[in-house]
Amino acid sequence: MNMPPNHEWTPERVDQLTKLWGTGLSASEIGRKLGITKNAVVGKVRRLNLAMRRAPAVPKALPNIVTLERLKSTQCSWPEGEPGEDSFRFCGKLAVPSKPYCEAHCKIAYVPPKKRQSAAA
Ligand SMILES: [Zn+2]
Repeated sequence: MNMPPNHEWTPERVDQLTKLWGTGLSASEIGRKLGITKNAVVGKVRRLNLAMRRAPAVPKALPNIVTLERLKSTQCSWPEGEPGEDSFRFCGKLAVPSKPYCEAHCKIAYVPPKKRQSAAA
């Protein structure tokens, strides 16, 4: 056995983590590949200041992550939960025709700012 300790972040391992993170794998999947815990992955990603794959505020910023490919085009692709976590998933409800989201999420995604203001008044 000539493996470096699991907690040791050699430049190679950091590089590997960065690449795996970029592919859209979940933190636990990356951890499995690197032989570390999910928390270690998340912690390192935060320290490296890698872009956290957060749910976008606007639809055009949808992350192109692996799970998205499993969605049918007729299903809502609204991301739910914390990207990179096991609980992260897409809405998956029937999408409005020609829209990427279900009716409820279309309302959130496509509300014009002006309308929102007058509704609050
Ligand atoms: Zn939805």
